[in-house]
Amino acid sequence: MAKKEFKSESKRLLDLMINSIYTNKDIFLRELISNASDALDKLYYRSLTDKKVKVDKESLEININFDKDSRTLTISDNGCGMTKEELEANLGTIAKSGSLSFKENMTKDEKIDIIGQFGVGFYSAFMVSDKITVTSKSIDSDDAYVWESEGADGYTISKSSKDEVGTEIVLSIKEDSEEYDYCKYLDEYEIKNLVKKYSDYISFPIKMECTHHELKDEEKHEYEDIKEVETLNSMIPIWKKNKSEVEDVDYDNFYMDKFSDYDKPLKVISSSVEGMCSYKSLLFIPSHAPYDFYTQEYEKGLALYSNGVMIMEKCGELLPDYFSFVKGVVDSEDLSLNISRELLQESNNLKLIAKNIESKIRKELEKMLKEDRENYISFFKTFGVQLKYGVYNNYGADKDKLKDLVMFYSAKHERLVTLSEYVSEMKEGQENIYYASGASIEKINALPQVEQVKDKEYDILYLTDYVDEFCITAIQEYEGKKFTNVSDGNLDLESEEEKKETEKVNKDNSDLLKAMCEKIGEVKEVKFSNKLKSHPVCLTTKGDVSIEMQKVFDAMPNDMGIKAETILEINEKHPISEKLKDLFENDKEEFEKYTEILYSEARMIAGLPIENPTEISRLICEVISK
Ligand code: ADP
Repeated sequence: MAKKEFKSESKRLLDLMINSIYTNKDIFLRELISNASDALDKLYYRSLTDKKVKVDKESLEININFDKDSRTLTISDNGCGMTKEELEANLGTIAKSGSLSFKENMTKDEKIDIIGQFGVGFYSAFMVSDKITVTSKSIDSDDAYVWESEGADGYTISKSSKDEVGTEIVLSIKEDSEEYDYCKYLDEYEIKNLVKKYSDYISFPIKMECTHHELKDEEKHEYEDIKEVETLNSMIPIWKKNKSEVEDVDYDNFYMDKFSDYDKPLKVISSSVEGMCSYKSLLFIPSHAPYDFYTQEYEKGLALYSNGVMIMEKCGELLPDYFSFVKGVVDSEDLSLNISRELLQESNNLKLIAKNIESKIRKELEKMLKEDRENYISFFKTFGVQLKYGVYNNYGADKDKLKDLVMFYSAKHERLVTLSEYVSEMKEGQENIYYASGASIEKINALPQVEQVKDKEYDILYLTDYVDEFCITAIQEYEGKKFTNVSDGNLDLESEEEKKETEKVNKDNSDLLKAMCEKIGEVKEVKFSNKLKSHPVCLTTKGDVSIEMQKVFDAMPNDMGIKAETILEINEKHPISEKLKDLFENDKEEFEKYTEILYSEARMIAGLPIENPTEISRLICEVISK
């Protein structure tokens, strides 16, 4: 039979897995049990919605068998099973997203990170096995198939005999080595412990034949080994247990298992609500973004249960987009099992739960920000963009819910601050919330416009993310204070005297300024200003669109032609001003060259492209060689 190769990325992942860089090999068992439990859930749900499928709920179970002589460990379930195509698709490809980056000579941490990016899953079984045999019969197929693989060099699929619908996975456990005693996975006591530790909450019985020593003769102290099938797990879903009964580590393990994460969650939010629509929920904020979070494939949603029975793996209606990173489970007795998913998604009870959950998450985040700032900042660095996006999405409909959760970099404190913190520290006489945007903190620090505001000892919020300015524009004002871009042409920070002085200079030189404006063409205005301390020129804007926003628009695939209205400002106290005045009187040709060079400088400082760099470079050389 021809061996099929794994896709090349899968192969490399498998190599990593087989060479066992994961220190916690034990987790393979919880992964296989969790897959079996999902398969049982799927079959049971099918029976509720498809009259042709008859299932007795009591019969659904997971079985574990071990055999020390043949060194095999078998995990079987009577769930939905897999067709030949599903075996191929589900077990033949490991990396679901094709964008994992392999490097030569990766460190151990980098390897773990790569494995973490796609979740450990079924393949973790290769950490402890030389060979894996999966025999499966799908509820949708008359034939059973067997998938077999000894690791990275490929797998085979062939027809097999299996009467019952379901899946059986046989692991040939590795020989013991100096580093590791694989035989522990063939030990009754160890297996029992692992199931209790990682899979206790699984809602189907996990059964295994266990040995008891039973006293046969009291006088002679004789014991007899009796074999009996035992259910190893308590079957109480973790979200149905009392908070006091559950330890943090149990929540962490449940999360890592259920949502295939290699890291503990950053925050666990559990709640039990009684009322018009009662439900229990167990929510998690991951400590890092899932590998596919910023891709089209990412699907938000919470697992939805009706009294312990899973109805939907990812119910998107339960989460607003701005909390799409939240993972978790919702279980309600007030949701009917017997209506279609489409109707369920429309149900008022579901909407009520969704509303409660949104507000619960929000309150918990607010609390974390107040009481556990370090953790909040770590959260915000990972998912803050999502919140900022939520502020301006839907024409700002949710901005009031989110404006106290967003943070921006403060120039004064050199760390993230909230808007409320900024406003509470505003100087006497400071009317506005100042912000500046740019590609990085260093670049914003170097902006000429920043100097004048800092000189007044006003703090400035530095916006470095492309969503930041859109977010701030949507909020409009905070506690009555307007947001003002330091690059706004009308910053209005001068004293009356200074203003008058500049007005006069501009008036006296109106011909010169007009000539410059005409030469440049694309600016709205050229003016002398006294806002620049050491810099000769800068570009400011009029109106709602800033230069940074224009850059975002420019980068969009369909250019909407949205442009910032720019003003070239010239530092009136800089020697260049006198030079310009002199040239305007005496050498028009040279004056035009200076105009072009100065405008290019201003664009450069603003991070805008220069259309004709060769020409500008030629002009500069011409001028400086004189
Ligand atoms: P994940 O469980 O995260 O999707 P896995 O690699 O563990 O990833 O499993 C891949 C897929 O194989 C599962 O999504 C499921 O469709 C299928 N699968 C695995 N084990 C079973 C099983 N016991 N019964 C039915 N399908 C299974």
